[in-house]
Amino acid sequence: MPRPITAYIHVDAVRHNLEVIKQRSAPAKVWAVVKANAYGHGIERIYPALAAADGIALLDLDEAVRVRELGWKKPILLLEGVFKPEDAEMADALGLTVAVHCDEQLDLIAAAKRSRPIDIYLKMNSGMNRLGYTPDTFRAAWERAHAAPSIREITLMSHFASADAGDIDWQMNRFEAASGGIPGQRSLSNSAAVLWHKAVHRNWVRPGIILYGGSPSGVSRDIADVPLRASMSLVSEIIGTQTLRADETVGYGRAFTADREMRIGVVACGYADGYPRHAPAGTPIAVDGIVTRVVGRVSMDMITVDLTPCPAAGIGSKVELWGDQVKIDDVAAPAGTIGYELMCALARRVPVKAV
Ligand SMILES: *Cc1c(COP(=O)(O)O)cnc(C)c1O
Repeated sequence: MPRPITAYIHVDAVRHNLEVIKQRSAPAKVWAVVKANAYGHGIERIYPALAAADGIALLDLDEAVRVRELGWKKPILLLEGVFKPEDAEMADALGLTVAVHCDEQLDLIAAAKRSRPIDIYLKMNSGMNRLGYTPDTFRAAWERAHAAPSIREITLMSHFASADAGDIDWQMNRFEAASGGIPGQRSLSNSAAVLWHKAVHRNWVRPGIILYGGSPSGVSRDIADVPLRASMSLVSEIIGTQTLRADETVGYGRAFTADREMRIGVVACGYADGYPRHAPAGTPIAVDGIVTRVVGRVSMDMITVDLTPCPAAGIGSKVELWGDQVKIDDVAAPAGTIGYELMCALARRVPVKAV
């Protein structure tokens, strides 16, 4: 028998979350962001849940190929645009909308052999300082794109650095000042802005993490009032138990010492499955439906948990590492990371089932 670990992908949860997003964003259109193989869920697995999206946004051309092969006829947005001449030709063949964040990309598009003009998302760096034209070069870039016969529609795009912290005015002021009077649609909002900044939804929103039920801020209580559902659950079983006497330790480095006699359970899940090695003692974990805590260090293949709150648990007991009961952000935060990373880092060796 294989190890009893499985990741479940809840396709209906994605469909439901998309509905929640649509209701909050209307009348803006919705790009469902499925980069990084749908935040670790598998594009093919969640694809049936995306029918109501207006477009699918991603980064890799091979992901765009997969989405077209699945039969997607609506727009696909390549969020970082093209890098090589052949990418521009591929974007044409696949009918993609491409982000353009620098003159080099405009050159690639202008030079590419193409069957029809292409729609672009012209990106302004309004303060994130990763990709995009600075506010003072943006208008000239738009003029250039507008004059290019190879380019059809130009949507103005920018990305927020801290929409989860309530702080976007400084970027909006720059964006508005530099784009005022330029015609075309606008696309600004990531998940945090979809939830918390209705005023900037504009024409197209670009939610990612909330499609999968994660918190844009990495703090689960920040989305407690939003009816989102977890689209990924990681489950396993107890494969061993131990009874520690007071002062005995468990696991590598003897990092946890029992202060009294206590039962611990050994769970078939470790950092080689994508569970964060830095999860400290106290990280929540559910055994037989009861939330308890991790104790001792996370090792490659195993985690040890306190069975005090669940005395009936034993070998074969069901464990939820994250999912409905244990929010993924509540596992990520104590380990110093965010739900996004745990979803994306689910290890290859974990069997995945779409349900
Ligand atoms: C990843 C990404 C998004 C989605 O971000 P979330 O925080 O997951 O909603 C939106 N826009 C761009 C440009 C992105 O790269």
